[in-house]
Amino acid sequence: MTRLPKNRQDYCMKFCKTCALLLCAGKGERSGLDYNKIFYRLPQGITVLEKSIDLLALSEIDKIVLVISPSDEEIIKDFWQGDYAFGGQTRAHSVKNGLDFIAQKGGCDVVVIHDCARPYASVNLVNACIQSAQALGSGVAGVTPTDTIKRKNDDTIAENLDRNTLVCVQTPQAFDFDKLCLAYAKATYNETDDSEIFSNVAPAVVVRGEYTNGKITTCADLSIKVGSGFDVHRLVESRKLILGGVEIPHKMGLLGHSDADVVLHAICDAILSAANLPDIGVLFPDTDVRYEGISSAILLRQTVDFAKNNGYSLVNVSAVIMAEKPKLAPVIPKIRQSIANICQLPVENVNVSATTTEKLGIIGQEQGIAASATCLMKRL
Ligand code: MG
Repeated sequence: MTRLPKNRQDYCMKFCKTCALLLCAGKGERSGLDYNKIFYRLPQGITVLEKSIDLLALSEIDKIVLVISPSDEEIIKDFWQGDYAFGGQTRAHSVKNGLDFIAQKGGCDVVVIHDCARPYASVNLVNACIQSAQALGSGVAGVTPTDTIKRKNDDTIAENLDRNTLVCVQTPQAFDFDKLCLAYAKATYNETDDSEIFSNVAPAVVVRGEYTNGKITTCADLSIKVGSGFDVHRLVESRKLILGGVEIPHKMGLLGHSDADVVLHAICDAILSAANLPDIGVLFPDTDVRYEGISSAILLRQTVDFAKNNGYSLVNVSAVIMAEKPKLAPVIPKIRQSIANICQLPVENVNVSATTTEKLGIIGQEQGIAASATCLMKRL
């Protein structure tokens, strides 16, 4: 299924003014995925590939050519029915193959080169690069570094560089097509971007880039999600009080179909919420006899596994217990450790705090205990 507007699909290459090469051939080894990261589905529900195609399709571009890895050819056809060329050994070889493909089809005036792994560039940025290339021969997106950059000699700093004279080069990069082809005739193929190769014929012109136009290289760039959960249970006599998987001596306990561990229930809902899954009431209905009197530690363990099977792993948990009595401060470390064990997290990634409600409302009048939880999940 393509994300392209229909009228973009059958452009005639000849006479087209602006062509784009979308570089999709990277192996994405650093992404931590076992597939090309361009097929990663973004939180918006579309793949990195579709998002980048949409970006170029909405820009002032007449023709898009994908540069792909031969091993991705079949799967790419599910997303793209237009032209494509095969990538080469290095990035420079891949671009050269793309330029040759365009040349064979009659060439163009301006060629835009863009990394598929930068799906968040804006249409305005692509168009600014094109306009610069039309007027000045080139337009390369770049931003001033936010870190202080130094030149080193072995392990010592050899030179302090003025940040304002430096630029972090991104894509899109747009060039006069004929000039870039001339520059490629002198390429060593060790270059890591096209502005370096273009310098064989002229210095490239920098266009103000965007800090939001980051390149997806690692799993951490791909997706993290926050979830929150909340639960309340009624306090009654002759029930055990279990909070965070720990039995706490008290004259009353929480009423519920399971062991009524309000803390673990809030954590379950936080996890399910972040992972886009139905809540605990749907997953473990209180009408199901299998869950009668069950330890909520089992439910939380199953929830963590369920989220994992749906592509999300837990990073950290933060929970707040709202109770008038008993005093929870002495048992907090034990509760933290218990939650960490159930979730298989380091204890420093689990935090629990407790509060009263100043004798106000159902909590303050000791009719019940409530808990809220927040968690961070990482897309696998
Ligand atoms: Mg509950």
